[in-house]
Formats: sequence, structure tokens, C-alpha cells
Amino acid sequence: MLNVGASRCEHQRNILNTIKFESLGIGAALCRALADIGYQQPTPIQAQAIPDLLAGEDLLGIAQTGTGKTAAFSLPILEQLMADRIKAASRRPRVLILAPTRELAAQIRDEIGNFAQHTKLRYTCIFGGVGQNPQIKALARGVEILVATPGRLLDLAENGHVELDEISHLVLDEADRLLDMGFIRDVKKIIRLLPLERQSLLFSATMPREVAELADEILYHPVRVEVTPEQITVDKIEQGVLMVTSDRKQAALQQMLFDPGVTRAIVFTRTKHGANRVAKKLDKAGIAAEAIHGNKSQNARTRALDNFKNGDAWVLVATDIAARGIDIDGISHVINFELPHEPESYVHRIGRTARAGSSGVAWSLVDTSEIKRLKAVERLTKMELAKLEMEIAGGDGERITPSGQKIPRARQQSSMETRGDNGTKRRRRRRPRRRKAA
Ligand code: AMP
Repeated sequence: MLNVGASRCEHQRNILNTIKFESLGIGAALCRALADIGYQQPTPIQAQAIPDLLAGEDLLGIAQTGTGKTAAFSLPILEQLMADRIKAASRRPRVLILAPTRELAAQIRDEIGNFAQHTKLRYTCIFGGVGQNPQIKALARGVEILVATPGRLLDLAENGHVELDEISHLVLDEADRLLDMGFIRDVKKIIRLLPLERQSLLFSATMPREVAELADEILYHPVRVEVTPEQITVDKIEQGVLMVTSDRKQAALQQMLFDPGVTRAIVFTRTKHGANRVAKKLDKAGIAAEAIHGNKSQNARTRALDNFKNGDAWVLVATDIAARGIDIDGISHVINFELPHEPESYVHRIGRTARAGSSGVAWSLVDTSEIKRLKAVERLTKMELAKLEMEIAGGDGERITPSGQKIPRARQQSSMETRGDNGTKRRRRRRPRRRKAA
């Protein structure tokens, strides 16, 4: 059992630095994809789980979002599918991954898409709340991997659009949430449709009695892997929420960044396009920003991070995917341009500030469509987040930051400005224009 608590983190990191995906048994096609998306080393749960899963063992994983569990289960399953060389028949997937929410299901599908980019494996994702026809068509074309929420899967199975009798690998992701959301009956019905001979994996952040019972029912002598994420002390972080309409978020963000307390900030967006858009507008407004996300090449990401680390840019706009690798001290503020779907990601995001015992500030821009997510964050952190008061100034209006500081006019209009480590302003070096090859 692997248990990575705060005290052992450093030691684990050193050991993990020497482990590579290749040495865990992951083949060339997947390793190439991992290199493309910038996964250099396996996370603890990946290092622990992949060899056993490749050997065909069942697995009980006690792990939250943020630990790298999606790759931990996807990579060895994809590898086994490639070794089998069996093409799935129409409507008969070989791998079933059940997730509690459509967001999680879509996230898993996207990750699998990244991993499978140099393979011929086909995958699709089905969930409720949207039309069935495209899903029925995708199933009819045939997919090796099916990611699904339980309700829609049962609907489609009951109407003969999908047969589960050739499933050789089953993953139940976030089993505790599947139970919490009342899916237990559906999950059990689905399991009755599967062949008995299969590899089964169950992941859960917590292990209440019902989850342990379900695990007992569906897993055969499972390997147990437990990974607790890095300890984040949220109470050291001063947190606040600004209620704002989505069209004013950019203006609000810019005003916040001019707070003199902000020396180095990470802004989180939910999508890669969002990250690019926000960073571009910040740069235009004279705030030296870099964007970092999964669509950027490793080189572009390294360059962006270097610029951020050395103070050439003092704002980094990132997605959750990119955030994992970010381990930079001296981040004074984390600003959530949007709240994440998973409340655990909020904790993960704000943990980028207040590192190494220092304190930090986390502000979130929240519009009315995000209230549910805000409540989920408050439930998880067991605290009500303070509401920030900040009038968003348009045009030439006087700007006041969340800490009540008036922004001097000269500052509002300054351009190409960067801040050094101590918060002092520096001129941003313009990047030399790349010459076109002759
Ligand atoms: P998960 O726990 O699967 O939701 O993963 C959390 C985040 O970590 C996701 O954004 C992944 O893309 C990222 N991630 C997973 N494994 C690795 C890795 N080995 N290296 C870098 N990032 C990773």
C-alpha cells in the first residue's frame, strides 16, 4: 500500500523521479502520447497500479481526483486492448467505465482521447440530458471503450442499443459519489449484464460501508492502492468570492490583478480556449501573462513556466490539467476565473498559493450559473467563503481592488508592465520576433 502524506511527499517524489512509464510496462504508442501531453513521470497511484493492472489483477483504489487516477486505470487497459488486437463489434464495447456525472465522464473520455491518439482504439462517452441519437450511432459504429453515466447506459442497454456481454474490463470511478447520487441500483443492474470473467477496478475517495460492500461483491482478490493527495491547509489561505456576471469577469480580473498585494498570480480557467483568451486580453491590457494548458507543446509550456518563474510574466493562466505540474513558490494569489466542476479541484488549485507554510489569497469570480459549484466547494472545505465587495469600474472610472486599495490612474493605464520577485514593477521584455525560414 502506498500512502503519500505530506511528510513523505519529498521522499516519494525523489523515488518517483526515477520511474518512467516505459519501465512500468507501457508501450511505445502510449508513451509517445504521454510525451505529447507532457506527462513526464508517473504519479504515485500510476506507479503503484499500472504493473498490477497490466498483469490482469482487480484493483481497489482509494484516491481522489487530482491524484492521476484516470491515467492509472486507462493506460494499462488501453495497453491490454492493443495487445489483444480484438476489434469491438457493433454495439459491443470491451471496456466500460462508469462515472457519476457527465462532467467526469466527459473528462475521462477526453483523457482517453489524449492517450489513444496514436492508436486505432475507438471510444465514446454517453450521458443523460442530451439527445440519444449521436450516442446510438457511435455505439453502432463500434467502440472498444465506453465511458458512461449509469442512467443513460441502462436506457440504451434496455432498448438494445448496447450489449454488455463482451466487456472484459470494468471501472467504477468515484464509487462513493455514484452511491451518494443514488445510482447504486443502476450500477448493480449494469453489473448483472456483464460477463463474470473480467478485470474489475473500483475507485473511491472514501470508503463508507456501502462502497466496501460493493467492492467485495465485484472485485476478486483486489490489489489495494491508497493515495492521499498532498495535504493542503485551506485555513491558511484567505479566500473570497466576487459575484459577477460572466461578461464582466475579464474586467473584474484585471482590476483584481492591479491590487498591490498581487505579486505573482495564477488564474484558473476551465477550458484551454478560455486560458488563451484570458491571457491574450491580459497581455493586451498591459498585464504580462502566459497561458499554459494541455494543448500546448512541452516546449511552449516549459517556456511559459520559465517566463513565469523568472518574473517576465507575473500572471499565469492555467487549466486544471496544466496545474498539476506547477510547483512554484511565491504565488501570492490564485484567482478562479470560473469554479471547477469538481470541488476537489478547487482545493487543489488554491493550494498553489500558501506553499511552504506561507499564507496566500484565493479569489473566485462566480456567476449565477456557478452557485451550485460554490456550494459544493463550501461543503467540501467546511467553510463559507467571504463575499468580496468590488465595484467593477468601466472606462475611466476609479478602480478599487478587493482589499480596498485605490488604483492610481497611471497604474491603470500602464502597459507592458511586469513585476519582479519582490513585487516591484519591471518592463516586460518583448519576445524577439521569430524569423521566417528562408
Ligand atoms: P485525475 O486524478 O486523473 O483527475 O488527474 C488529475 C490531473 O493530473 C489531470 O489534469 C491529469 O491530466 C494530470 N495528470 C495525471 N497524471 C499525470 C502525470 N503523470 N504527469 C502530469 N500530469 C498528470
